[in-house]
Amino acid sequence: MLQSKPQEDTYLHKGLRAKLVDTLRQKGIKDEKVLAAINTVPRHFFLDTAFERIAYEDRAFQIVAQQTISHPYTVAFQTELLDVKKFDKVLEVGTGSSYQSCILAELGARVFSVERQRALYDFVNQFFFIKKYATIKRFYGDGYAGLSSYAPFDKIIVTAGAPFVPEKLIEQLKPGGIFVIPVGDDSGQKMLKITKGIDHKITTEELGDFDFVPMLEGKNK
Ligand code: SAH
Repeated sequence: MLQSKPQEDTYLHKGLRAKLVDTLRQKGIKDEKVLAAINTVPRHFFLDTAFERIAYEDRAFQIVAQQTISHPYTVAFQTELLDVKKFDKVLEVGTGSSYQSCILAELGARVFSVERQRALYDFVNQFFFIKKYATIKRFYGDGYAGLSSYAPFDKIIVTAGAPFVPEKLIEQLKPGGIFVIPVGDDSGQKMLKITKGIDHKITTEELGDFDFVPMLEGKNK
């Protein structure tokens, strides 16, 4: 459960976080800005206090409504691919715990994050830590539609496993933009990095196997 009251971020937590950063470096994450963001955002605030000691292991955890907070490696990998620049407008599909949103905001992005599960959307409303970032806007809606009134985006990140690449999201990507999305089915997904050239030409790279909860159509009350 996300924590609605400020909790302590102790030397123990900071130490565990520094170790996690070492692990991510060993696993191949190179972008120092991404590693610094992981080193700054207290992941244990995004989890039930029961998980406090293990919050910095490189593993996923259940949050609300059968959803998960992704592995730190996955968050770091997707964020590195996005190559976030200060003031980038970033669309995120799948707010979940909002950990990924906070990492993007820490990198200076203006974040527009969409969540289809009402229970999760409401939960994050009560979460104290996200209030630190005035640059995160959250929406209850279906990410397949994107956010046409805020488009186009410099970057788009989908944090649920999509059965296909939604056309609306390609449309809402700026020329010169980067779009990172895991595509596949329940048995696993391939991480795709899609770039749109200045000439609108789409290029797709396939970058490894992942295991996300599914990207589902429509809103869930
Ligand atoms: N980025 C999250 C990880 C979320 S897990 C984090 O940092 O914790 C994936 C999330 O995607 C779930 O919360 C799920 O409800 C949401 N989701 C799935 N399909 C969606 C859709 N079509 N639109 C918006 N959110 C969606």
